[in-house]
Amino acid sequence: MDKAETRPASGLVDSFGRRITYARMSVTDRCDLRCRYCMAERMQFLPRREILTLEELALLGDILIARGVRKIRLTGGEPLVRKGMMELVRMLGRRLGNGLDELALTTNATRLERFASELRDAGVERVNVSLDSRRPERFAHITRGGDLGQVLRGIDAALKVGLQVKINMVALATINEDEIEDMMRWCAAMAIDLTLIETMPLGEVEEDRTDHYLPLDVVRRRIEECFTLVPSSRRSGGPARYFDVTELRSRLGLITPLTNNFCDGCNRIRVAATGSVYGCLGHDQKVELRDALRSSGGAGAVDELLDRLLAGKPRRHDFRIGGAPAVARHMSVTGG
Ligand code: SAM
Ligand code: SF4
Repeated sequence: MDKAETRPASGLVDSFGRRITYARMSVTDRCDLRCRYCMAERMQFLPRREILTLEELALLGDILIARGVRKIRLTGGEPLVRKGMMELVRMLGRRLGNGLDELALTTNATRLERFASELRDAGVERVNVSLDSRRPERFAHITRGGDLGQVLRGIDAALKVGLQVKINMVALATINEDEIEDMMRWCAAMAIDLTLIETMPLGEVEEDRTDHYLPLDVVRRRIEECFTLVPSSRRSGGPARYFDVTELRSRLGLITPLTNNFCDGCNRIRVAATGSVYGCLGHDQKVELRDALRSSGGAGAVDELLDRLLAGKPRRHDFRIGGAPAVARHMSVTGG
């Protein structure tokens, strides 16, 4: 399909009146880490021929922008392990100020030291970095072999080139719950925001997530024994609710898919690297765009499929801890 074929079409509004302005785009399901709550140790990754090319991903970005998407977050798997990834970042970066308001990235930061300045030069201003522990052995345990030093160097490099960094920390009972206060202090000292996330039941991961599920209402009560949390009106366009931490003069985000559903304000769709697009992280409802993207004259077909996706976008996810995962696919398919 040709770039020239894309044409302005109406906005993306679902059957509950929610307008979609935010797309999360997983550019690969592969990753150089194996976080225990995210992936199984021996993952079966998709064959490369099933993955959209960088040009196809950029074209899909253009189509989504034409349909009213204003923010694209590149994610994965680990987006920075995809070969040629900076080319895609540059292609999408050219749309900034020209339909696109923000191009962001979620990364485990293992390769951020190498790519930070190229990201910034391409127009990325903010990166979310996953960091569940600042203790080297614990970090290696959670990620099944990750090198904390590499990640910290990545964060430093990002800050040095002027990228805004936000840390995402999945709160895990008995694994890192004793480190949350320390992480809050460290982030405050570095002047970076911290968001805590509840573990979600997505895909089989060998371990039982129930063992490590930690509800954030419990965490919040514990934090409030040490700090004052003042609800903030700040919105980042994502699902986090923010609090100002008075004593630290910092900000804390809470993403609570289980204890406090946030679906009413959903403005997102999720693109998998195969060209499947999902209406919701917690459901299998999707459309397949790859064939339409690859066929000549496919622009109309892509628009029709997007309309079908929006018509069937579920009202809310229905995550529950315990029992089978809500969906069989892992978070690495649709990205965080
Ligand atoms: N590899 C990149 C990273 O780790 O930031 C991007 C992809 S990762 C799937 C995106 C985010 O999803 C990370 O912050 C990760 O901690 C989170 N995540 C993965 N599996 C999760 C799960 N089952 N429940 C909650 N968060 C999860
Ligand atoms: Fe890889 Fe990110 Fe999943 Fe960890 S959370 S295994 S870094 S995709």
